[in-house]
Amino acid sequence: MLLSSYIYEVSLPECVTSAVRVNAIAKLSEDIREVLPYLNARVKAGTFNHEGGTLRFIWEGKAINLFPRRITVSGLRDRGDAVQILEWVKDFINTTWQNRQEIEPSFRRGDEVKVLELYRLLPGTNCGECGERTCMAFAAKLVRQEAEISECCPLLSHEWQEKRQVLFSLVERGG
Ligand code: SF4
Repeated sequence: MLLSSYIYEVSLPECVTSAVRVNAIAKLSEDIREVLPYLNARVKAGTFNHEGGTLRFIWEGKAINLFPRRITVSGLRDRGDAVQILEWVKDFINTTWQNRQEIEPSFRRGDEVKVLELYRLLPGTNCGECGERTCMAFAAKLVRQEAEISECCPLLSHEWQEKRQVLFSLVERGG
């Protein structure tokens, strides 16, 4: 077992005052840097920085960020949701580490999938309110940091609150 335990806390996101969604931060008992390339090989659309020791991916609508001694998760419903997701991440880390002999580590940065990753969190109606003709074009501008999430007006409605928060988490942490 690579990761034996963690201490976590949950907090309301700063950017959404009416949010019922919470973020979680877990401080890890062990350094998980070595497992990150193996995890990167197993996640579908991760963004990996080997030098910096970070891996980011989406799982069941939650943005999960792994650092050598820390895990952050956003888009959670409540404390129980936080425990469930963090336990899943811990198990994902440990089973991946246990099976690392059968996994070819991946050092792919995954920057190329980031536009698609953001696009999937946008309304997808191509309404043009942001000044772009398509949501895909807007996602590309977000990646290049040429646009702000708030420029997508439909995204500011309650209906899109959960995905908006995940978007904020992804864009704030950069590529
Ligand atoms: S405003 Fe939002 S939903 Fe409309 S085209 Fe732009 S990104 Fe898509």
